[in-house]
Amino acid sequence: YESPSPIETDSEDEVIFNRILKVNKDCSRYLQEGDIVPQRSRSAINCRNCYWPQSSDGIVRVPYVLDPTYEESHIKGIQEAMAEFETLTCINFVKRQTERDYLSIKSADGCWSNYGKVGGGQTVSVMKGGCMWKGIIQHELDHALGFLHEHSRSDRDKYVKIMWEYISPADRPDFKKFENSNNLGLPYDYSSVMHYGPTVNHTTIVPIPDGAVHIGQRQGLSNMDVAKINKLYNCSRCSTILDAAFGSLKSANHPRNYSHNTNCVWLIRTRSRKISLHFRAFELQKTRGCQGDYVKVYDGSSKSSTVLMDKTCGSKIPTDVVASSNLMLVEFVTDGAGTASGFQATFTSGRIGHFFKVRETLIPFKIASSSTVTNGCANASEDSNFQSTLEQTFL
Ligand SMILES: [Zn+2]
Repeated sequence: YESPSPIETDSEDEVIFNRILKVNKDCSRYLQEGDIVPQRSRSAINCRNCYWPQSSDGIVRVPYVLDPTYEESHIKGIQEAMAEFETLTCINFVKRQTERDYLSIKSADGCWSNYGKVGGGQTVSVMKGGCMWKGIIQHELDHALGFLHEHSRSDRDKYVKIMWEYISPADRPDFKKFENSNNLGLPYDYSSVMHYGPTVNHTTIVPIPDGAVHIGQRQGLSNMDVAKINKLYNCSRCSTILDAAFGSLKSANHPRNYSHNTNCVWLIRTRSRKISLHFRAFELQKTRGCQGDYVKVYDGSSKSSTVLMDKTCGSKIPTDVVASSNLMLVEFVTDGAGTASGFQATFTSGRIGHFFKVRETLIPFKIASSSTVTNGCANASEDSNFQSTLEQTFL
């Protein structure tokens, strides 16, 4: 796999949390649980006024200023990490004008943040050397929104076993659980961007009952992270992250008719580049300029990214859409009039995409040729085509 468009490249599949802990090792400041700034005025879990206010339009605007020493690539990385919040939740990170409370995102001594809104300008440290990963930036921003680590939840002992014998007494407070954590009635999430990885030096945290369950990740927000933000901040958003190498998506109820007045997005975020989207079924109410119901596809994670496929409606199956990177956004909007069966599509990325191409183009050919073959040496020329197509696809 290629690396997932980070600013800082790395060949290892290291989970976000281990990276944070490694970077913060050299940080002289005292941090709770590895990366949370302790607060004297209130306990970490007592967060009544620590959420960011919601505007009457339902958007939660979180003002921020960026360290003037960041270079263009750092700013781009931070804004890309923020864009996913905006696409998937009602949190919008906006440049600070005169707001009193805001995030001051700085390249300080590590990757760390406060828990929730503190008041005034609060630092989120995203150090240039080490923290410039989408998942790390999102992790620290999530703390500032009022989220703690997933493995500190009150119910964590049902899901993970803490291997205390491998944790030095000095590090034990980092594995403390919060008896009164607000779990929002949503399930424990092993793949949360807020979950510790399996190994720090020794395996210190083991999923139960199945120790082989994958914990922690570095790709960024999970669907459950998004659900938790939307629940905590009362956002009504229809958004899904698709982060496997290949998969499918469809409009609600498909092949039955979709509902009126909906607005859903799918963020396809794969690990390898060149996502390819292939529509298999397409039937949308047809209106002039597709101003009613439509599907629109973007080359990136937000609606301000380049448009790959503009508003499309009607019943003609659109041609394949290919993204330039490992991010693609699919938007489906319906109005209050007319309905149809909607759409169904599949996506592939990187090498998997090549395999699928082979299957789609060659297997039907093989079936067709075998059904027409009457002797053992038929279609020799077609077989050589087969060979050269195979080579083209894999080279
Ligand atoms: Zn953290």
